[in-house]
Amino acid sequence: MTAARTDPYRPWRGSPDVHVQHYDLDLRYRVATNRLTARAVLTVVPLADVDEVVLELRGPRVGGVTVAGAVLVRSAHRDGLLRLRLAGAAPAGEPLTVTVDYSGRPVPVRSPWGPVGWEELDDGVLVANQPTGAPSWFPCVDRPDLAATYRTAVSVEKPYRAVAHGVLTSVTARAGTTTWVYEQRVPTATYLATVQVGRYDEHRLVDGPVPQLLVTAGPRAAEARRAFAGHGAIMDHHVQVFGPYPFDAYTLVVTPDTLEIPLEAQGMGIFGANHLHARGEDARLVPHELAHQWFGNSVRVASWQHIWLNEGPACYAEWRWSQASGGTGVDALAHGWHARLRRRPQDLVLSDPGYDRIFDDRVYKRGALTLHALDCLLGRAAGDALLRGWTRTQAGRAVTTDDFRAHALAVAGPARAADVADLLRRWLDEPALPALPD
Ligand SMILES: [Zn+2]
Repeated sequence: MTAARTDPYRPWRGSPDVHVQHYDLDLRYRVATNRLTARAVLTVVPLADVDEVVLELRGPRVGGVTVAGAVLVRSAHRDGLLRLRLAGAAPAGEPLTVTVDYSGRPVPVRSPWGPVGWEELDDGVLVANQPTGAPSWFPCVDRPDLAATYRTAVSVEKPYRAVAHGVLTSVTARAGTTTWVYEQRVPTATYLATVQVGRYDEHRLVDGPVPQLLVTAGPRAAEARRAFAGHGAIMDHHVQVFGPYPFDAYTLVVTPDTLEIPLEAQGMGIFGANHLHARGEDARLVPHELAHQWFGNSVRVASWQHIWLNEGPACYAEWRWSQASGGTGVDALAHGWHARLRRRPQDLVLSDPGYDRIFDDRVYKRGALTLHALDCLLGRAAGDALLRGWTRTQAGRAVTTDDFRAHALAVAGPARAADVADLLRRWLDEPALPALPD
């Protein structure tokens, strides 16, 4: 039973039998020394009777743990795992309140894709958790299928501003320190939780259909405002194609440092200074990150195995925006990428790429080509309706490739179900690259 709930793409970590419903995080951080002193209060709901709760926390040291709702026999923090042994079994469904005090100098977690998580910048902090970095700064059950609400309070010395996922609900200044409190009421996966700290100011780029905000450091503000002046048009385009924007606002953070790639967090896209003048191939990054709010953040994956459901549509969104904004059309982009993929090894199965290959570029491009192939079969209008139906019916859910298959078959209707099933089987389940429809 335990094994069945373990993510096959991450078989070695965390409690399989608990769900964290809410994270209440109080983070006190000194930029100058990269010193974090924190308290996390977790509302933990056992999914089965459990006599142990295992959280991940990598880096900071645990100073104390209490559990309300059960008797804590002992706790041990070793190898990034915080094991809480309970006296007797805590019954399924009855919430426990776990309070963890911890401190230290957080560093990113090592992963097959490089360091992820809490990262000290030259003058601030960047947090980019995907996929396994969240335990670098808070104790959690770090799985993409589980979502929780959050209250994140970040205290930093002046003049720094802290930005976290969710709505800013209070700012309190006291004795040289400012506390920024954010509440995230939409359940959010741990990898999409974030904190950004810098000498930042907030600017309002566009008001509707939701506020689109820019957070960046003073000297770069004018340049960033110019670079993102057209963001409202990208938002309007995505709303038209993918359905209503799923959150209250979208914040674009531009760090003073250069970043290899931009990253998505809940209601947020994080860009490096080097992305401000993205041209050509890199111009795709802004619509790509925005698309993740629908695909990945609102509709989330049940396991990293299904990451093509995030990256395929995000890449497809790049192509659609390229065409809509007068750039290269979808057909030409699809044919170009298909030709490139044909020259690559055809040993990757989209519905099960393998954990080490979840960020393989072929997952992105073949995922987008799958949606393009569906468009070719069903027609663009029906393809768009399929995606809007997907974002509407699966919002807030953790989904699998088979969920997408079932959705596509239902939308296609009985007359076309066999064709759609065949198309999806060839694109998703077989390593050989199918021919692109004419
Ligand atoms: Zn992406």
